[in-house]
Amino acid sequence: MEMANWSSRDELRSIAASLRHHLERREKAGIPYLPVGESRKDNQKAVSQPVPNQALEGNLFSDYTSAYSSKNLTELRTAIGDCQRCKLAPGRTHLVFGVGNPKAKVMFVGEGPGRDEDLQGEPFVGRAGQLLTDIITKGMGMKREDVYIANVIKCRPPENRNPEPDEIEACEPFLVQQIQLIKPRVIVALGKFAVQSLLKSKVPIMKMRGGWQDYHGTKLMPTLHPAYLLRNPGDKKLVWEDIKKVLQEIAAPAL
Ligand code: URA
Repeated sequence: MEMANWSSRDELRSIAASLRHHLERREKAGIPYLPVGESRKDNQKAVSQPVPNQALEGNLFSDYTSAYSSKNLTELRTAIGDCQRCKLAPGRTHLVFGVGNPKAKVMFVGEGPGRDEDLQGEPFVGRAGQLLTDIITKGMGMKREDVYIANVIKCRPPENRNPEPDEIEACEPFLVQQIQLIKPRVIVALGKFAVQSLLKSKVPIMKMRGGWQDYHGTKLMPTLHPAYLLRNPGDKKLVWEDIKKVLQEIAAPAL
């Protein structure tokens, strides 16, 4: 029942996002809106004007519906394609989709690709990534391939600036679908940015970390970002406390 509610809510959100992107693209491409109250004949004149860039026109629902109807991660990746849905596209080297076990019990979600990730096309492969790998292997006794790792946004923002709201909005449907397909027991949200954008919250990370949250019916554990831990190694013990709760949760029988 919960999943049905989630699906229809997300579908509505996806349709609204598709409609907005579609209208924005039309506007950018100089395609006139259908004038309100004009006769059908006049409207036909308006839409039959030459379209400046046919590729920008697209199908109203094509932006996200094929992603939402994808049945596995490969289909989802194909649906995302050579994504041009937000302004990060021109600056990226690789779209960083995500990596790991498609049936993982634990899914880590970070902020967005940095330089190393952009170059290699894989999340968390730089210094922060090495620390995350240590948390998984040395702390949790698992392999990196046992878990799934993704980010809130899939393309690197210029100069590693924070992702902007329109970029998150354009990309989040893909993460939502990734989570739907993987169905992890637990999501571990890494750092202030991922936690606040997933939970649509402004509560400081230090207040949120270590306490279970709900992300559309999936348990979510907010914790500190590995990059923060590189600068503040004294706080690694806090992450270990959070990870122990995750380990307890995945050891318990599924309801
Ligand atoms: N930081 C993130 O949040 N994600 C990555 O993939 C790498 C660094």
